[in-house]
Amino acid sequence: LGIKIETIGFDADDTLWLNETLYLQAKQDLITLLSPYQEPELIESYLDKTELSNIRVYGYGIKSFTLSMIETALELSHGTAGADEIQQVISFARRMLSSDVQLLEGVQETLARLAIEYDLMMITKGDLFEQERKVERSGLAKYFKYIEYVGEKTPHRYQTLFVKYALDPAGFLMVGNSLRSDILPVISIGGRAVYIPYQHTWSHETDVGTELDGRKFYQIENISQLPDLLHDLSGRG
Ligand SMILES: [Mg+2]
Repeated sequence: LGIKIETIGFDADDTLWLNETLYLQAKQDLITLLSPYQEPELIESYLDKTELSNIRVYGYGIKSFTLSMIETALELSHGTAGADEIQQVISFARRMLSSDVQLLEGVQETLARLAIEYDLMMITKGDLFEQERKVERSGLAKYFKYIEYVGEKTPHRYQTLFVKYALDPAGFLMVGNSLRSDILPVISIGGRAVYIPYQHTWSHETDVGTELDGRKFYQIENISQLPDLLHDLSGRG
C-alpha cells in the first residue's frame, strides 16, 4: 500500500448519471412500434447489430442511435414503415435528447468530498453536443479541474491526456462502469482503475474477453465507497 493518487478520472454515463436506461426505454418503444412487422427478439437483435456497426460510421450518441432505429424500422418492415413510424422514432430521439440528467446515488456528495483533496477529471466519450449538454445540466462541472470529451477511450487517448496535463500514470486512478473503456485501457498503460458495475451496461462496454485476466483493478458497488477505498490505498487506514 502507500499508493499516492493525485488525479482521479471519472467516466460520466452510468458512472455519474443515468444514460443506458434512456436507450433501453427507446428500444422498448421501437419494439412496440415495429411489433406489427417482427418478433421482439428479432427487432432487438437487429437493432443491436445495426447500432454496433454504425459506431464506425456515425460514432456514439443518440443521433447515431436514431439512425440505427430508422434503419431497423425500414429493414424489418421491408420498406413499408412510413412517415408515421419515422416520425415516432424521431420523437423517441427528441425525448432522449431533452431528458433531465439524473445523477446516480451518492455522486454529488462524493465528488464534493474528493474535489477537496484530489484533482478530478471527467473523461466522457460520445457526441460532443450531447455530452456538453449533460455536463451543463448535471451541475457537476464545478468539481472538475479538467473535463475531456473523447471519441474513443483507447490507451493512446489516455496517454495523450497524461502528456497534456503532465500526469504520472501511477498517480492516476480512473473510475467507471465500462471494462472496455474505463478499466482496461488505463491499467494497460500503468494507471489504476476502479470498476463500478452498473446494472444496465451495454454489452459492447463489458465484453473484453480474457484481456483483463490476471490484471489488477479495484471494484466497488457504489461511488460512495470511493473515499474509503482511496483512504485504504494511501495506507493511512
Ligand atoms: Mg459509462
